[in-house]
Order: sequence, then structure tokens, then C-alpha cells
Amino acid sequence: MTRVPLAIPNIGAREAELVNEAISSGFVSSVGRFVSEFEDRFAQYVGAKYAVACASGTAALHIAMRLAGVQPGDLVAVSDFTFMASSNAASYQFAELLLVDAEENSWCMDVDLLRSELERRQAAGEKLPKVIEIVHILGQPADAVAVMEVARDYGITVIEDAAEALGATWTSGPLAGKHVGTVGHMGAFSFNGNKIMTTGGGGMFTTNDEELARRAKHLSTQARLPDRGYLHDEIGFNYRLTNIAAALGVAQLERLDDFVSTKREIAKRYNDAFAGTAIQTPPDLPGQHSTYWLYSIQVPADRGPGARDQLQDFLAEVGIESRSLWRPLHMQPPLTNEALVGGSVGESLFARGLSLPCSTDLTAVDQKRVIDRVHEWLQLGSE
Ligand SMILES: *Cc1c(COP(=O)(O)O)cnc(C)c1O
Repeated sequence: MTRVPLAIPNIGAREAELVNEAISSGFVSSVGRFVSEFEDRFAQYVGAKYAVACASGTAALHIAMRLAGVQPGDLVAVSDFTFMASSNAASYQFAELLLVDAEENSWCMDVDLLRSELERRQAAGEKLPKVIEIVHILGQPADAVAVMEVARDYGITVIEDAAEALGATWTSGPLAGKHVGTVGHMGAFSFNGNKIMTTGGGGMFTTNDEELARRAKHLSTQARLPDRGYLHDEIGFNYRLTNIAAALGVAQLERLDDFVSTKREIAKRYNDAFAGTAIQTPPDLPGQHSTYWLYSIQVPADRGPGARDQLQDFLAEVGIESRSLWRPLHMQPPLTNEALVGGSVGESLFARGLSLPCSTDLTAVDQKRVIDRVHEWLQLGSE
């Protein structure tokens, strides 16, 4: 029986063609036409004024933290339930963290919880965040309207970690038609191998502010000024994307609409199959168009604490790969002393969460195998 992988890249002839073109051009590193072409097309796709191609999503986030002026000891509020790269970017600036629990309906930051914590801190004369970093988790848009309101009230910069949610949009309300990563002051996307589109490794910084875009590009290229000698006006980074990677990106971007609709079709088939069972399906909120980057379920709470691992093992026995959701940041050893509000929602999402195979080339036959096996496991528990 063939193995069913969790999520693998979908790379075809067009990618090979453009990568070969980049190689033949001789411009393999960060100079070359594909880098700026990728940036222009990406900015147009998501509807941001500016896009700056970076070596990784983490690099794009780190640049955003630098541009927000985050300095040692500053506070950065970030979703507690996320992949650790979200907070690493703040930690690189030696920031302190305010970890904010997820809300049950979106699995993204609970903005009410954030607001009441800011009210409490202000009343108590405690430190307020310099940055709010929201994470659009697993392809699901966070409540950006509420976040922007809080940020405006307190004069805080908003960075959107859209690493997992390229292609996700709002379909109604004040943000109708907008893509994630274009609503806050700065956004960051990732093109790592398991993301919805890939450049092997890479990321994108987005903003509507010309000066921030200029500075992001400057910082990502060692802060080197145009000068006959080597002149640098600040401490920069080697964070620029290569031309080869950008060529891959241009080709993948042409196929992104297809990837997004395929992910949504896969999600719909899973949702239909699990309707009426004890499996909890992922968020599906009105006015939001999730990409279901990694289709993730919650196993039934009444199956006990080991249920998620049991299901994962049960699937693995027949070659079906699945993956646990993230351990919340407050449970990560380097972050146990950071400030936390709430935490139980993220802990529960972690304890019960499992991502199922959802590669864009997943066949209906293979998906049926996954579904049948999950049903079988549910049966076992009810006997
Ligand atoms: C993947 C990811 C990142 C980092 O992206 P890289 O390109 O791997 O550096 C950041 N935040 C979240 C939530 C991610 O899933």
C-alpha cells in the first residue's frame, strides 16, 4: 500500500523551466530579474502596495520586528497557539512576550482577552506591548478588525504572521476582498517546503508603507548603501531571497489559485465525511475564506488524554501520515517565564489536534482511505 504523506510540495514543469532559466542567466544569488518579478507579482496577488522577498518567513518577521522598533525588554503580544517561529522573531530582538490564548471558534488570538489584559496593564501602570503579532493559523484569518481597533486605541504596531495563510481572504464586513497579511502595518509570509506554495525556503515581507518597504529591503541586504566602497549605515542582515528560489516562486504563484481551491475542496470532503461524528472539524467562520493549509481536526474529548496519539498511530499503521498541532508557546521550555493570559484553549487544541493528509495532489482514493480509517478508529472507541 502506498504511503499517504501529510503535505508535500507540488512542483511541475513550469517550475523546472523557470529555475533553469534562472540558472542559465548566471544570476543565481540575490541579484536577478526573478526576485523583483516575484515581489511585483506577489504584491499584486495579495493586494499589498509593497512586497520584499526574504530568505524565510522567520526573516521577514524579524525584519518587521526591527522596523517596529522592538528593542530589548520591549513587550510583544503574540498568539500563544502557534508555531514557535512566530515568537522567535521577537525573541531575536530580546523582547519580552505577552502570550495571548486562542479563541475556540477561530483558533486564532482571542482579542477580547488581549483587550482586557491591556486595560488591566494600563490601570496598573504596567508595560504595554510595542507590537501585537497576530497569526492567521493553519490558513484561518484572525479577527483583524478587532485587533486593528485595539491597536489604534493604544497606538500599537500590528504585524501579521500570515506564514500559514497565503491566499486566505475576508469575504464580507469591513475587510471584504482583502487578503491576510495586508491589513496590519506589516505582514510576513513563508514559502517553506510544507507551506501552500514553496520556493524551497523563503518568505515575503509586505506593507503599504513605502518607507517601511524601502527599509525592509535595505535591512535584508546587509544595510549596504550604494557607494564605491563598502558602506553600511546600520547593522543589517543577509536575509534576501535568491534568484533561483524566486524563479520557483514565480512559477508557484501562477498556480496558487489552484492550490487554494484544491485545499478548500479537500477540506470540504473531510468536513462532509466527519459531519455527524464526534470529530470536531476546523473553523469555518462566516465572512472568512480559509485556505485550510493543514486540514486539522480535534479528536473527541471523551476519548481521553491519549486519544490524539492513538489515532495518529492507528493511521501510521497503514502508512497514513498525520501530525500533532503545536504545543502552545507557554509550554515551550525557553518561554515558560513569559507573561501569559489564558492558555487552556491552546492546551486543548494541542492535546486533541491532528492534521490530516492534504497535499494539493492528494487523490480522492487516498483521501477516502484516510476518511475510512478515521471512521474505523471512531468505531473502535464506541464498541
Ligand atoms: C512556517 C511558519 C513561520 C516561519 O516560516 P519559515 O519560512 O519556515 O521561516 C512563521 N510562522 C508560522 C506560524 C509558521 O507556520
